[in-house]
Amino acid sequence: MTRPAAAEQVDELRRAGLYRRMRLIEGAQGPRVSLDGRDVLLLCSNNSLGLAEHPEVRLAGAEAYRDICASAGASRLVSGNMDVHERLEGRLASFHRQEAALLFGSGYLANTGTIAALARRGEVVYSDALNHASIVDGCRLAGAETFIYRHRDVEHLGWALKRADRPAALIVSDGLFSMDGDVAPLAWLVELARRHDARLMIDEAHAVGTFGPSGQGTIAAAGLSDEVDVTSGTLGKSLGSYGAYVATSAELRDLLVNRARPLIFSTGLPPAVAAAAEAALGIIEREPHRVEQLRENGETLRSALAAEGLEGIAGEGADPGTQIIPLVIGDPERAVAACARALEQGVYAQAIRPPTVPEGTSRLRMTVMASHEPEDLRRAASVIAAAVRAVAADGEYSIEIPEPEGEPEVYRVAPEPASRAPRS
Ligand SMILES: *Cc1c(COP(=O)(O)O)cnc(C)c1O
Repeated sequence: MTRPAAAEQVDELRRAGLYRRMRLIEGAQGPRVSLDGRDVLLLCSNNSLGLAEHPEVRLAGAEAYRDICASAGASRLVSGNMDVHERLEGRLASFHRQEAALLFGSGYLANTGTIAALARRGEVVYSDALNHASIVDGCRLAGAETFIYRHRDVEHLGWALKRADRPAALIVSDGLFSMDGDVAPLAWLVELARRHDARLMIDEAHAVGTFGPSGQGTIAAAGLSDEVDVTSGTLGKSLGSYGAYVATSAELRDLLVNRARPLIFSTGLPPAVAAAAEAALGIIEREPHRVEQLRENGETLRSALAAEGLEGIAGEGADPGTQIIPLVIGDPERAVAACARALEQGVYAQAIRPPTVPEGTSRLRMTVMASHEPEDLRRAASVIAAAVRAVAADGEYSIEIPEPEGEPEVYRVAPEPASRAPRS
């Protein structure tokens, strides 16, 4: 069989309503941006606290470029380990009340690298069905068997742990789920991990700087900082920069330094992005009112949508105060049409489609920022409501979320032939 041309593959995506393209932002990120040449309210950025454009954050990056250097020049295990890296790791460790932290090139790399380092063939990783793609890919890379438990379903997870015939390496979950805005059942995950001698890893990418009283994330908010083995977080969302990290014990950090391939085989973070993130962390610690403002803005948009007759899918664990507000539409083409209509009225909420979300749950996913004006959010709610109604089949917004069909997916990884084992 011949390989289909790239254009054919793209056409296939187009026919399925799944074609994606990048829209162009000119100038800076902020609560309003210039998008494809027009001024719009930005409702789909993860720059939750407005720190990406904060003068102090930008200055810290600029000064590092001017006074230090532009690149770390090598992997941190060769000659790229710099004091800016270790200083930021110290700050991140104490922010998460952990012994240690370890920087990675991005959240994608932190998750794939850490999971692949901590789980091995012959073991099982247990992963929530709605975990971020970087977790899914980490599971695939690990070569361990992965059991996907139903979203937030601790009974399903417990059932699988009990029935497994091989050791549990890891239970892994988003803390605050990126596309649904609900929170993992952390106390249960801790209990099950303990009972089955598994490590627990929580991805706080969307919760750092946004969730809990001082933006310390879902784990700290639940008082479980001592119970989680590995916390991953990104510097690219509320921390306004780029890169990522895991916060963990000194012992596990040491293991990751020796085993996590994206750390070993990739250049250390540029000093400037570490310096910018460090400045952002300082602002979060110093000005907790930003976190409070974010929460209030989330409530403002949610209640304005509710007043328009739109309730998000808001799964059982949805927290009324999070910055992530999904409106499930179902069909991908309708979701894209709703996005386009809202954009005509100056509101940009990206349509999210498979494979980012499960089949049948395409949606507009809105994310508020602390820097939004409440008045703009209220106006956005009426624009979004009109757009969603216009694309709904019968003019009414109502959606049944389809039940997942069949057995949960389990990745089985065939043993690697010895002659083709990857070089380390
Ligand atoms: C965004 C995100 C990531 C990836 O982080 P990057 O630094 O952008 O690569 C990982 N996990 C979750 C839950 C995320 O939302």
